[in-house]
Amino acid sequence: VTRVLVVEDDVVLRTAIRVTLGREGHEVAEAGDGGAALAEVRATAPDAIVLDLGLPDIDGLDLLPRLRALTAAPVVVLTARDDRPTTIAALDAGADDYVTKPFHRDLFTARVRAVLRRGGVAARSGVVEVGDLRIDLVARSVERGGVPVPLTPTERRLLEALVRRPGVLRPHADLLHEVWGPAYGTETTYLRTYVRQLRSKLGDDAADPRCIATEAGVGYRWIAEPGGRPDPPVA
Ligand code: CA
Repeated sequence: VTRVLVVEDDVVLRTAIRVTLGREGHEVAEAGDGGAALAEVRATAPDAIVLDLGLPDIDGLDLLPRLRALTAAPVVVLTARDDRPTTIAALDAGADDYVTKPFHRDLFTARVRAVLRRGGVAARSGVVEVGDLRIDLVARSVERGGVPVPLTPTERRLLEALVRRPGVLRPHADLLHEVWGPAYGTETTYLRTYVRQLRSKLGDDAADPRCIATEAGVGYRWIAEPGGRPDPPVA
């Protein structure tokens, strides 16, 4: 059983999240403010934390490093829609992923699942299939409709970086470090170019992606659970 701590001062939303995560089989602890969150982390060592950034006592951005000092558990922050600077600041302060309010239940639970498995399920089996696309990480081959898809070394490294962490947000700087090397981190135009090339070769559509989702201004993620139909928002 995984233990998830939900830090949210809005009781209605907190209850909805508790019920949703409970249905997924997680054990849920709750905190209504930052002080209670720190106490819960000390007392129960959660496996993951869902953190609303708007709390009554401690600003979420100030709370993040304090949580980080206590636990390595992944943190998913809840942010207001259209507040990209705060989202980026939260990722810089140690958050692993984010969900903007209002969110759909399926999207939310998928994010929590993704941060909990972090290491990646794709890495274990070595083969990822999306529609007519077959990516074999062990044989390092990609086929589309049974036809080999030739990739450049950089395209292959980028594809692997994404596929190995299904559903996990990969911020621009992380991908640049991993694919281009430690000296890189701000060259987002490289990423844009190579993601566009990859999408074209994989037959992926940026406007309606089945493989690579763009998180505008933040990063990219490999879509782990394609075809998931969104439920009505819970928040
Ligand atoms: Ca709040």
